[in-house]
Amino acid sequence: MSKHPRIAVVGSANIDLTTFSDRFPKAGETIFGQKFDLGFGGKGANQAVASRLCGADVFMVARVGDDLFGPATIQNFQKLGIDATHVKQIEGVSSGVAPIFVEPSGQNRILVVKGANDLLKPEDVDAAADLLRTVDCMVLQFEIPLETVYYSVSFARKNNIRCIVNPAPAQPIDMNALSGLDYFVPNESEAETITGLPVRNVDEAKKCAEKLLSSGIKRIIITLGANGSLLASHEGMEHIPAFSVNSIDSTGAGDAFIGSFAVFLGEGLPERDAVRRANLYAGLSTTGVGTQKSFYDRQRFDAEWAGRARN
Ligand code: ADP
Repeated sequence: MSKHPRIAVVGSANIDLTTFSDRFPKAGETIFGQKFDLGFGGKGANQAVASRLCGADVFMVARVGDDLFGPATIQNFQKLGIDATHVKQIEGVSSGVAPIFVEPSGQNRILVVKGANDLLKPEDVDAAADLLRTVDCMVLQFEIPLETVYYSVSFARKNNIRCIVNPAPAQPIDMNALSGLDYFVPNESEAETITGLPVRNVDEAKKCAEKLLSSGIKRIIITLGANGSLLASHEGMEHIPAFSVNSIDSTGAGDAFIGSFAVFLGEGLPERDAVRRANLYAGLSTTGVGTQKSFYDRQRFDAEWAGRARN
């Protein structure tokens, strides 16, 4: 496995602003909080970071706002070795932000302001077209306008580039626009919202995957939390169990799964093996708190893999 896959993420970048307090303030009330944490987030950025930490050459196509967070986000990409040539700062809008309030019980309240992410347009894909034609895989999520997702899928299809769509957060979609897509990777609740079918166990996940496959997508992977994932194609379906880990915070597990899966696939592994490794990479991310901060680098991952995956 010597090849470095080239992966482009066309997606969101957010700043997570997490405040920890004894309780939530009431309407009109001001209270002191205990602790504050500022972190780089957004599903697109998280997936780019996971791919980078797994060893890929990663290219981000995104928009950030006209505030302190815009340049900081670009610097964070650069620091991690992610190419940010196509991360553009837009005047007059804010960056994407997610103020998060957490009570001692762990109960949280989250507001996401899409800001500049909502202005990532098909023109941005065109502007990055020369670069995008050189990548092995394009990765997309739903925190940017759906028209940009559809446009990117069609761009990938025309240029014969492998494409992975993570429909998060779930919203009503035009499945026809995704026909011919290589990989559609929802979690349980996203799969439920999109198909209207319940996904409470592996059998229900299979029925849901069948429905999704009937829309012309080539392969579906439904991630099932501690239950692992279901890999489904027109040739058959397989439940691939998770690894046993000491899970303390599952935030960002889906992003870890997708970012790492893109890399393992790009390294030429059969998809079943790529899913197994992504299950472990994502599982390990749940053993630490936070999203990007909890992702393993390749060396640590390889050491865990060598210790666990004998067959
Ligand atoms: P999301 O973060 O989008 O809700 P999931 O919860 O389905 O995604 O998690 C993605 C992947 O992370 C799963 O398919 C699984 O491989 C791994 N994972 C998540 N939670 C656990 C856990 N408690 N133990 C082991 N692996 C886990």
